[in-house]
Amino acid sequence: MAHGTFNVPYPINEPVLSYAPGSPEREALQRAYAEMYNQDPIEVPMYIGTDQVSTGDKRAMTPPHEHGKVLGHFSYGDASHVQAAIDAALAARPAWSSLPWEHRAAVFLKAADLIAGPYRAKINAATMLSQGKNCFQAEIDAACEFADFLRFNAYYAQQIHAEQPESADGIWNRLEYRALEGFVFAITPFNFTAISGNLPAVAALMGNVVVWKPSDTQVYSAQVIMEIFQAAGLPDGVINMVTCDGPVAGDVVFKHREFAGLHFTGSTGVFRHLWKTIGENLELYRSYPRIVGETGGKDFVLAHPSAGVKEVATGLIRGAFEFQGQKCSAASRAYIPASLWPALEEELKTEMATLKMGSPEDFGNFINAVIDRKSFDKIKSYIDFAKSATDARIVAGGGTDDSVGYFVEPTVIETPNPHFKSMVEEIFGPVLTIHVYDDSAADAFEKVLDLVDNTSEYALTGAVFSNDRYALDLASKKLENAAGNFYLNDKPTGAVVGQQPFGGARGSGTNDKAGSYLNLLRWVSPRTIKEALVSPTDYRYPFLG
Ligand code: NAD
Repeated sequence: MAHGTFNVPYPINEPVLSYAPGSPEREALQRAYAEMYNQDPIEVPMYIGTDQVSTGDKRAMTPPHEHGKVLGHFSYGDASHVQAAIDAALAARPAWSSLPWEHRAAVFLKAADLIAGPYRAKINAATMLSQGKNCFQAEIDAACEFADFLRFNAYYAQQIHAEQPESADGIWNRLEYRALEGFVFAITPFNFTAISGNLPAVAALMGNVVVWKPSDTQVYSAQVIMEIFQAAGLPDGVINMVTCDGPVAGDVVFKHREFAGLHFTGSTGVFRHLWKTIGENLELYRSYPRIVGETGGKDFVLAHPSAGVKEVATGLIRGAFEFQGQKCSAASRAYIPASLWPALEEELKTEMATLKMGSPEDFGNFINAVIDRKSFDKIKSYIDFAKSATDARIVAGGGTDDSVGYFVEPTVIETPNPHFKSMVEEIFGPVLTIHVYDDSAADAFEKVLDLVDNTSEYALTGAVFSNDRYALDLASKKLENAAGNFYLNDKPTGAVVGQQPFGGARGSGTNDKAGSYLNLLRWVSPRTIKEALVSPTDYRYPFLG
């Protein structure tokens, strides 16, 4: 029981450090990277209750930019480990869910300060090594976004707890924000260290206990997350990290009576499969599970004839190619008016010729490798398809090289066919497809808006560039349901916690907006308490007289 109504420190976005030559942060990060690269291979265990569990099934962790280099191994678990993680979570639940919320918040506020301070270089270096991010991409993700999630969530939790009902005369009404009854299953993708940490953490902040399964290609930085949570004083069993095959984990979790919620970020196909499985098992559960999934995208950039060529080119290059296009929000289809295209094509070719690609160890590299062999093959197959198609041409890039790492050149495809395969399907790599539309007719822009809206099953992010206010208004209205994060005159990536709550609808997810209070509401089950201050003593109402 709290002896006060407390105010969480007002959250401020963690400043993004510059890593300019000569800066102390650059030196610290280079040192951490070198140390982690050169140390003996590490062993990553599973974190189950009080135990760090190793198994005989070891999987290698290698940098995407150097697949011959082994950073270490992680232990692969099986169904018994998933069961043990559930048991550990449920054993931790009574103490954790009844701990006053300000103590839970303090654990995650401390974790945020550790990330922004003593662990900053380590978590950034781990993200550079394991996910192949350059220093800036690692900084905005692993250090800043992660710390922001934890700090803003604590603040939103306070706001939620303060949200209380009215009380009539003689009555005191109260709302309690209880944890879900059971445990939460968090499944995270490879591409953001911040998302990996946030998905289990936000549920735990609200009093839940969690079984967390990170992606196989993110385990190296996932271990740093667990190290930070432990250093912040998170009690054992609250977040249990299991590393195993997804379907193996799903088989145990989705048949468990105490399964209370899924917090998922990943691809649309996997999420649909999980939702179906949960639906089929509904009678098994104590409660209706909460299902939150942020999934794929086919994010657009639309240029109006009034747009500036340099602004559009910069939005496309940053939006499509940063982190090799492996962001759910990455621009991957663009609609360019014929009147702008010759100048824009020239500008794109000139600028893209200056993009340097290679290991993140060299801070001059803007482009690094894609995550793994499977991704490399998939992305290459789209490029090969475009090369052999009669209705597409490669404008820039198109090269691939997997001899040392999984390198794919930033690639621009141009097609007259607005439904060309790479205009429609999520590729999740540095491939941008452009459709040039005839803008000579008066209704050309309106028609292309319909095309943008109807081309893909996704609705995650999108951007419109225009210097015509009426065009921006028209686009905002006609594309109302085409993107959950809609940008005017800016690239469609880089949402900031507390500033642009993130998520999309249609095939892109349940749109529960990570980085806002809306997400936190999914991890509580409110209880209403009505207390009569003086209880009636006669059943007769006045009208009976
Ligand atoms: P993925 O779907 O391949 O994997 C995501 C997670 O699901 C991994 O941990 C994986 O092991 C697990 N998984 C896979 N099959 C499973 C199963 N049958 N049962 C249980 N778990 C299973 O995605 P990825 O390649 O790691 O990430 C890229 C995808 O994530 C892209 O589609 C991208 O758009 C999406 N994404 C979306 C957002 C968003 O906020 N909308 C953010 C980041 C990534």
